[in-house]
Amino acid sequence: MSLKVYIGGKLYDKEDAKISVYDHGLLYGDGVFEGIRSYGGKVFRLKQHLDRLWDSAKAIWLAIPITKEEMADAIENTLKANGIQDGYIRVVVTRGAGTLGLDPNRCSDPQVIIITDRIALYPEELYQKGLEIITVSTVRNHPAALSPRVKSLNYLNNILAKIEGLQAGCIEALMLNHKGEVAECTGDNIFLVRNGRLLTPPNEAGILEGITRDAVIDLARQSEIEVRETPLTKHDVYISDECFLTGTAAEVVPVVKVDSRIIGDGAPGPITRRLIEGFHRLTRG
Ligand code: PMP
Repeated sequence: MSLKVYIGGKLYDKEDAKISVYDHGLLYGDGVFEGIRSYGGKVFRLKQHLDRLWDSAKAIWLAIPITKEEMADAIENTLKANGIQDGYIRVVVTRGAGTLGLDPNRCSDPQVIIITDRIALYPEELYQKGLEIITVSTVRNHPAALSPRVKSLNYLNNILAKIEGLQAGCIEALMLNHKGEVAECTGDNIFLVRNGRLLTPPNEAGILEGITRDAVIDLARQSEIEVRETPLTKHDVYISDECFLTGTAAEVVPVVKVDSRIIGDGAPGPITRRLIEGFHRLTRG
Protein backbone atom coordinates (compact mmCIF):
# COMPACT_ATOMS: atom_id res chain seq x y z
CA MET A 1 0.00 0.00 0.00
CA SER A 2 1.30 3.40 -0.96
CA LEU A 3 1.93 5.97 1.77
CA LYS A 4 -0.68 8.71 2.02
CA VAL A 5 0.38 12.34 2.02
CA TYR A 6 -1.81 15.15 3.34
CA ILE A 7 -2.13 18.25 1.17
CA GLY A 8 -4.64 20.96 2.02
CA GLY A 9 -7.15 18.76 3.82
CA LYS A 10 -7.01 15.69 1.57
CA LEU A 11 -4.94 12.52 1.57
CA TYR A 12 -3.21 11.51 -1.66
CA ASP A 13 -1.15 8.48 -2.60
CA LYS A 14 2.52 9.40 -2.38
CA GLU A 15 2.85 9.21 -6.19
CA ASP A 16 -0.05 11.63 -6.68
CA ALA A 17 0.92 14.10 -3.94
CA LYS A 18 1.84 17.14 -6.01
CA ILE A 19 1.82 20.90 -5.81
CA SER A 20 2.27 23.63 -8.42
CA VAL A 21 5.66 24.39 -9.95
CA TYR A 22 4.66 28.05 -9.44
CA ASP A 23 4.56 27.54 -5.67
CA HIS A 24 7.00 29.98 -4.09
CA GLY A 25 8.04 27.21 -1.72
CA LEU A 26 9.72 25.66 -4.75
CA LEU A 27 10.65 28.82 -6.67
CA TYR A 28 12.16 30.68 -3.70
CA GLY A 29 12.24 28.41 -0.65
CA ASP A 30 9.45 30.67 0.59
CA GLY A 31 7.83 28.68 3.35
CA VAL A 32 8.44 26.98 6.68
CA PHE A 33 8.60 23.43 7.98
CA GLU A 34 8.92 21.14 10.98
CA GLY A 35 10.38 17.70 11.57
CA ILE A 36 8.57 15.84 14.33
CA ARG A 37 8.72 12.32 15.79
CA SER A 38 6.06 9.92 16.85
CA TYR A 39 6.90 7.26 19.41
CA GLY A 40 4.46 4.43 20.11
CA GLY A 41 1.70 6.38 18.38
CA LYS A 42 2.26 9.51 20.47
CA VAL A 43 3.63 12.66 18.85
CA PHE A 44 6.65 13.94 20.79
CA ARG A 45 6.38 17.55 22.02
CA LEU A 46 3.74 18.41 19.42
CA LYS A 47 2.80 21.70 21.06
CA GLN A 48 6.41 22.94 20.96
CA HIS A 49 6.73 21.97 17.30
CA LEU A 50 3.48 23.70 16.35
CA ASP A 51 4.44 26.81 18.33
CA ARG A 52 7.81 26.91 16.53
CA LEU A 53 6.11 26.43 13.14
CA TRP A 54 3.68 29.27 13.82
CA ASP A 55 6.55 31.49 15.05
CA SER A 56 8.59 30.75 11.90
CA ALA A 57 5.54 31.55 9.75
CA LYS A 58 4.88 34.78 11.62
CA ALA A 59 8.48 35.91 11.11
CA ILE A 60 8.08 35.60 7.33
CA TRP A 61 4.55 37.10 7.19
CA LEU A 62 3.01 33.76 6.28
CA ALA A 63 -0.50 33.08 7.56
CA ILE A 64 -0.99 29.35 8.06
CA PRO A 65 -4.50 28.69 6.71
CA ILE A 66 -5.57 26.27 9.47
CA THR A 67 -5.50 26.41 13.27
CA LYS A 68 -3.01 24.60 15.50
CA GLU A 69 -5.83 22.27 16.58
CA GLU A 70 -6.66 21.46 12.97
CA MET A 71 -2.97 20.86 12.26
CA ALA A 72 -2.71 18.52 15.25
CA ASP A 73 -5.75 16.56 14.02
CA ALA A 74 -4.38 16.44 10.47
CA ILE A 75 -1.06 15.05 11.76
CA GLU A 76 -2.87 12.44 13.85
CA ASN A 77 -5.08 11.39 10.92
CA THR A 78 -2.16 11.16 8.50
CA LEU A 79 -0.22 8.95 10.92
CA LYS A 80 -3.31 6.74 11.37
CA ALA A 81 -3.95 6.50 7.63
CA ASN A 82 -0.41 5.19 7.22
CA GLY A 83 -0.50 2.93 10.28
CA ILE A 84 2.63 4.63 11.64
CA GLN A 85 3.36 4.29 15.37
CA ASP A 86 7.07 5.09 15.38
CA GLY A 87 7.93 7.50 12.64
CA TYR A 88 8.90 10.88 11.40
CA ILE A 89 6.48 13.64 10.46
CA ARG A 90 7.39 16.42 8.04
CA VAL A 91 5.05 19.40 8.09
CA VAL A 92 5.57 21.93 5.31
CA VAL A 93 3.72 25.20 4.74
CA THR A 94 4.50 27.00 1.49
CA ARG A 95 3.62 30.52 0.37
CA GLY A 96 1.49 28.97 -2.36
CA ALA A 97 1.36 29.32 -6.14
CA GLY A 98 2.19 32.78 -7.45
CA THR A 99 3.81 34.45 -10.41
CA LEU A 100 7.47 34.20 -11.39
CA GLY A 101 8.19 37.42 -9.49
CA LEU A 102 9.05 37.56 -5.78
CA ASP A 103 5.89 39.34 -4.65
CA PRO A 104 4.25 37.07 -2.06
CA ASN A 105 1.04 39.11 -2.32
CA ARG A 106 0.49 37.48 -5.69
CA CYS A 107 0.55 34.00 -4.17
CA SER A 108 -2.77 32.40 -3.43
CA ASP A 109 -3.42 29.42 -1.25
CA PRO A 110 -0.53 28.59 1.06
CA GLN A 111 -0.12 24.81 0.88
CA VAL A 112 -0.12 22.69 4.02
CA ILE A 113 1.66 19.38 3.46
CA ILE A 114 2.11 16.54 5.94
CA ILE A 115 4.37 13.63 5.10
CA THR A 116 4.67 10.76 7.56
CA ASP A 117 7.26 8.09 7.04
CA ARG A 118 9.62 5.69 8.79
CA ILE A 119 12.78 7.27 10.03
CA ALA A 120 16.31 6.44 8.91
CA LEU A 121 18.48 7.27 11.90
CA TYR A 122 22.24 7.31 11.89
CA PRO A 123 23.55 3.73 12.03
CA GLU A 124 23.17 2.21 15.52
CA GLU A 125 26.94 1.79 15.71
CA LEU A 126 27.39 5.57 15.91
CA TYR A 127 25.29 5.75 19.07
CA GLN A 128 27.63 3.24 20.69
CA LYS A 129 30.94 4.51 19.33
CA GLY A 130 30.23 8.17 18.62
CA LEU A 131 30.78 10.11 15.44
CA GLU A 132 33.45 12.33 13.99
CA ILE A 133 32.63 15.83 12.82
CA ILE A 134 34.59 18.72 11.35
CA THR A 135 34.16 22.49 11.45
CA VAL A 136 33.29 23.78 8.01
CA SER A 137 33.98 27.14 6.38
CA THR A 138 30.31 27.85 5.59
CA VAL A 139 29.28 30.38 8.24
CA ARG A 140 25.82 29.99 9.81
CA ASN A 141 23.33 32.54 8.44
CA HIS A 142 23.75 35.95 10.03
CA PRO A 143 20.76 36.31 12.37
CA ALA A 144 20.06 39.79 11.02
CA ALA A 145 19.85 38.44 7.46
CA LEU A 146 17.76 35.31 7.89
CA SER A 147 17.46 34.22 11.48
CA PRO A 148 18.39 30.58 12.09
CA ARG A 149 15.42 30.61 14.47
CA VAL A 150 13.17 30.57 11.38
CA LYS A 151 12.89 26.98 10.17
CA SER A 152 12.43 28.08 6.58
CA LEU A 153 12.33 26.00 3.42
CA ASN A 154 15.60 27.67 2.38
CA TYR A 155 18.13 25.28 3.88
CA LEU A 156 20.99 26.06 1.50
CA ASN A 157 23.15 27.43 4.31
CA ASN A 158 22.95 24.04 6.02
CA ILE A 159 23.21 22.06 2.80
CA LEU A 160 26.45 23.80 1.80
CA ALA A 161 27.89 22.99 5.21
CA LYS A 162 26.65 19.40 4.91
CA ILE A 163 28.40 19.03 1.53
CA GLU A 164 31.65 20.32 3.02
CA GLY A 165 31.32 17.81 5.84
CA LEU A 166 30.55 14.93 3.49
CA GLN A 167 33.52 15.82 1.29
CA ALA A 168 35.68 15.43 4.39
CA GLY A 169 34.04 12.09 5.18
CA CYS A 170 31.82 13.37 8.03
CA ILE A 171 28.04 12.91 8.10
CA GLU A 172 27.54 15.96 10.32
CA ALA A 173 29.44 19.24 10.33
CA LEU A 174 29.92 22.05 12.84
CA MET A 175 29.08 25.59 11.76
CA LEU A 176 30.41 28.75 13.37
CA ASN A 177 28.49 32.02 13.43
CA HIS A 178 29.57 35.35 11.93
CA LYS A 179 31.52 36.10 15.13
CA GLY A 180 33.47 32.85 14.87
CA GLU A 181 31.61 31.28 17.80
CA VAL A 182 30.22 27.76 17.75
CA ALA A 183 26.64 27.83 16.47
CA GLU A 184 25.28 24.39 15.64
CA CYS A 185 25.57 21.51 13.22
CA THR A 186 23.73 21.30 9.90
CA GLY A 187 20.67 19.61 11.39
CA ASP A 188 21.54 19.23 15.07
CA ASN A 189 22.35 21.34 18.12
CA ILE A 190 25.65 20.82 19.93
CA PHE A 191 26.44 20.24 23.61
CA LEU A 192 29.74 19.96 25.49
CA VAL A 193 30.54 18.59 28.92
CA ARG A 194 33.37 20.24 30.84
CA ASN A 195 34.10 19.53 34.52
CA GLY A 196 30.67 17.95 34.99
CA ARG A 197 28.79 20.94 33.53
CA LEU A 198 26.73 20.90 30.35
CA LEU A 199 27.51 23.75 27.96
CA THR A 200 25.60 24.73 24.83
CA PRO A 201 25.50 27.87 22.66
CA PRO A 202 22.69 30.31 23.55
CA ASN A 203 19.99 31.41 21.11
CA GLU A 204 21.93 34.59 20.48
CA ALA A 205 24.68 32.52 18.87
CA GLY A 206 22.30 32.17 15.91
CA ILE A 207 20.87 28.68 16.24
CA LEU A 208 17.61 26.90 15.72
CA GLU A 209 16.03 26.54 19.16
CA GLY A 210 15.99 22.77 19.04
CA ILE A 211 13.15 20.96 20.72
CA THR A 212 15.42 18.01 21.48
CA ARG A 213 17.90 20.55 22.90
CA ASP A 214 15.18 21.81 25.27
CA ALA A 215 14.27 18.26 26.27
CA VAL A 216 17.92 17.44 27.03
CA ILE A 217 18.38 20.64 29.05
CA ASP A 218 15.29 19.66 31.09
CA LEU A 219 16.62 16.13 31.58
CA ALA A 220 20.02 17.40 32.71
CA ARG A 221 18.52 19.86 35.20
CA GLN A 222 16.27 17.10 36.59
CA SER A 223 19.41 15.02 37.22
CA GLU A 224 21.05 18.02 38.86
CA ILE A 225 23.58 18.52 36.12
CA GLU A 226 24.35 22.22 35.79
CA VAL A 227 23.53 23.60 32.33
CA ARG A 228 24.99 26.80 30.91
CA GLU A 229 23.85 28.38 27.67
CA THR A 230 26.99 30.31 26.89
CA PRO A 231 29.05 31.42 23.88
CA LEU A 232 31.57 28.73 22.93
CA THR A 233 34.62 28.66 20.70
CA LYS A 234 36.20 25.83 18.75
CA HIS A 235 38.80 25.72 21.52
CA ASP A 236 36.05 24.92 24.05
CA VAL A 237 35.01 22.03 21.83
CA TYR A 238 38.57 20.69 21.52
CA ILE A 239 39.17 20.69 25.29
CA SER A 240 35.74 19.35 26.25
CA ASP A 241 35.43 16.12 28.22
CA GLU A 242 32.37 15.05 26.22
CA CYS A 243 30.46 16.26 23.19
CA PHE A 244 27.10 15.26 21.73
CA LEU A 245 24.48 16.45 19.25
CA THR A 246 20.71 16.65 19.57
CA GLY A 247 17.98 16.70 16.95
CA THR A 248 14.58 15.25 16.20
CA ALA A 249 15.98 12.72 13.71
CA ALA A 250 19.33 12.12 15.44
CA GLU A 251 17.93 12.21 19.01
CA VAL A 252 21.09 12.31 21.20
CA VAL A 253 24.26 11.17 19.45
CA PRO A 254 27.79 11.20 20.91
CA VAL A 255 30.68 12.94 19.15
CA VAL A 256 34.17 11.57 19.80
CA LYS A 257 36.34 13.44 17.31
CA VAL A 258 36.23 17.06 16.13
CA ASP A 259 38.67 18.46 13.55
CA SER A 260 40.93 15.41 14.18
CA ARG A 261 41.04 16.11 17.94
CA ILE A 262 39.90 13.23 20.10
CA ILE A 263 37.23 14.32 22.59
CA GLY A 264 37.74 13.06 26.13
CA ASP A 265 39.08 9.52 25.93
CA GLY A 266 37.59 8.90 22.50
CA ALA A 267 34.48 7.06 23.69
CA PRO A 268 31.01 8.43 24.60
CA GLY A 269 31.30 9.83 28.14
CA PRO A 270 29.19 9.08 31.24
CA ILE A 271 27.01 12.21 31.13
CA THR A 272 26.30 11.69 27.43
CA ARG A 273 25.32 8.07 28.08
CA ARG A 274 23.10 9.10 30.98
CA LEU A 275 21.31 11.65 28.84
CA ILE A 276 20.88 9.18 25.97
CA GLU A 277 19.24 6.77 28.43
CA GLY A 278 17.11 9.56 29.87
CA PHE A 279 15.97 10.57 26.41
CA HIS A 280 15.08 6.96 25.58
CA ARG A 281 12.96 6.72 28.72
CA LEU A 282 11.26 10.03 27.87
CA THR A 283 10.37 8.92 24.35
CA ARG A 284 9.89 5.17 24.71
CA GLY A 285 8.76 4.91 28.33
N1 PMP B 1 19.54 22.84 14.12
C1 PMP B 1 19.11 22.77 12.85
C2 PMP B 1 19.73 23.63 11.82
C3 PMP B 1 18.08 21.87 12.53
O1 PMP B 1 17.63 21.78 11.27
C4 PMP B 1 17.52 21.05 13.53
C5 PMP B 1 16.39 20.13 13.21
N2 PMP B 1 16.79 19.02 12.45
C6 PMP B 1 18.04 21.16 14.84
C7 PMP B 1 19.03 22.07 15.09
C8 PMP B 1 17.50 20.32 15.95
O2 PMP B 1 16.22 20.78 16.30
P1 PMP B 1 15.10 19.78 16.84
O3 PMP B 1 15.67 19.16 18.07
O4 PMP B 1 13.93 20.66 17.13
O5 PMP B 1 14.85 18.79 15.78
